[in-house]
This record gives sequence, structure tokens and C-alpha cells, in this order.
Amino acid sequence: MGIMQLFKQTSGWLYLNSPVGRNQLHGAGVILMLHRVLANDRAADLPHRNELCIGTKAFDHFLEWLNRHFDCVPLMDILQPTQQPSPRPKVALTFDDGWRDNALHAFPVLLKHQVPASIFLSSDFIGSRQRFWWESIGETLWGSHGEAPRMHLIDCLQQLGRPLPVLLDDVDVQRRSLALLRFLQSLKTLPPPELSRLADECPAESMPQALDWQQVRELENSGLVRFGPHGASHAILTGLDDCTLGQEIRRSRDALLNGCKRPLPVYCYPNGDNDARVRQQVADHDFPFALGTAAGIYRGNADPLAVPRFGVSQRVARNPQLLSWRIYRGARA
Ligand SMILES: [Zn+2]
Repeated sequence: MGIMQLFKQTSGWLYLNSPVGRNQLHGAGVILMLHRVLANDRAADLPHRNELCIGTKAFDHFLEWLNRHFDCVPLMDILQPTQQPSPRPKVALTFDDGWRDNALHAFPVLLKHQVPASIFLSSDFIGSRQRFWWESIGETLWGSHGEAPRMHLIDCLQQLGRPLPVLLDDVDVQRRSLALLRFLQSLKTLPPPELSRLADECPAESMPQALDWQQVRELENSGLVRFGPHGASHAILTGLDDCTLGQEIRRSRDALLNGCKRPLPVYCYPNGDNDARVRQQVADHDFPFALGTAAGIYRGNADPLAVPRFGVSQRVARNPQLLSWRIYRGARA
């Protein structure tokens, strides 16, 4: 472990356990942002998955740590508190996109530790075979579906003027994964229809990537999980014209109203991207709250339409003290 990491872990621990830290967090809430939980921790360790994926073991250990230091509460207990604050700081878990692994791998661990969570669905994907391009392109290029589909996708990328960097042939797994991460990030500049076309060139997976509505209902019936919208197509809202923006918000809101018993009055911006125009439209569609991705603690006096969250990667889940360091930084800001 590097000196800096050790320093951050120790300071983070001291902060959470000191009167100063307890004071600063009193009555405030920490909202965490997660995406996927994979069965295999080693798969989640690789750089191109690390930001979005947590392994089941790391997740289990992470929830145990959260329960030791925080009151793990439903999201609305932070956004609309009804009770007097307890001496311990509050934390709420949120998951973005609506990945099927949230039901398969995350839920059993949530249940074991009795930790509530909110899942924000990109509603067009729920119950459909529509695929998240990042996952489809990333895993195909990684070779998870074999060599032939990988070569085919490389040809398609070549035709689009996006040749694969040589580093993607590196024999070192870490370096190859890091090169893939950078390449995927560079593809974000392609127009969304181009990205879905590329995702369609990837082989059909044996299993759909997103939750279906039956799973949504089962999770909701458990009483531990609630749902809210995260766009319909996952388009970046700030890039849409007024009319398409309105359609995107309405379609996702109506899908949640149809598919859930008690959807959250909280919108979650795809990629966290929002501006004054997007916030106004979200408010006009009866959402008093919306979640962004800027890091920070929620104190109730900030803009309820740009609620901050802390992202949790596999690295953070494995070393939760790194999260207390980031909370400490967020509290000082
Ligand atoms: Zn998302």
C-alpha cells in the first residue's frame, strides 16, 4: 500500500471516529452511488470494470463496515427527514441504470445486512434486450465472448475511423484493461445512434443485461428497495432539445408509475449531467428532488435538484476508509 493511501485511510478513520467528524456529520446525510455487483471479485478488480463494478465479497465487507459506522437508511430519510437526527451519521445506497446483477448479486447481500437501497432505472432497458453500449463493446473487445466477435467488432470500429490502440494487445492483463478503459472513454464522443449500432454488432448475450419488471416488483415487495427514473434511453439530458428532453423525462416517469407501486419522487440524471434548464424541466414533471454525481454531503440546505453523491468503486469497497477520507474532504468543502 502506498504512503498516500495509508495516510488517507488513517485520516479517514480518525475523522469518522472523532468528535469533530461526528459533529460535522450530525444531521447530514451521505448518499452513495453504485452501479453493478459482480459474482467474481477478481473480474471487478480490472481497471475497465473497477469504476462501475463491485465484487460480491467486497460488497459484503463494505456493507458490514457501513453498518458499523453509519445508520444505513432509505434515501428519503436523508432527503425528507421526519425523525430527530441520531448521533450516528446517515448513509443511503443508490444504484444507477438498473442492472440485472442488482437483483442477482446485490440484493442477497443487502438482505443479509438489512441495508435499504434505491435503484434508478433507465426505463427503455428494463425488460428489453436493449444493451448498454459500454458493457457490450467493452466485454466483446475484452474477448469475453470469444475471438470471432472480437475481430468483427474491431473491423466495425476500423470502418468508423476508430482503430483499436496497439496497447489492447499487451500481454499484461492490467495494462490491457487500462488501455481498454481509455479506449471506451474515447468512444463517448461518438453519437449515441452510432454507439447503439456498435452494441448491436456484439454477440447476443445468454442473459439480458437489465432488470425486468417482474424483478423490479419482487425487489419492491421486499420492502428494502425502492425505484426511481434515470432517464428513458440514458441520453445525456443537457444535450437534448426542449421537446426531446420533455419526452425523455415523461417516458421514464410514466414507466416507473406503471411498473412500480410507490416510485420515488426523485430523478437521477444520466451521467449526473444537469443544468438550470434540465433542473427546471425535472421540477416541472413533479420531481422535488434529483441526484447528480458531484461529490459532497447532503445537508438539506443545498439545491434539492442537484443532490451530491459519492461514487463507490471496487477499490473503495475494498478499502472503505478511502470513503471516509472523501467524506472528510466533502465536509470541509
Ligand atoms: Zn447511468
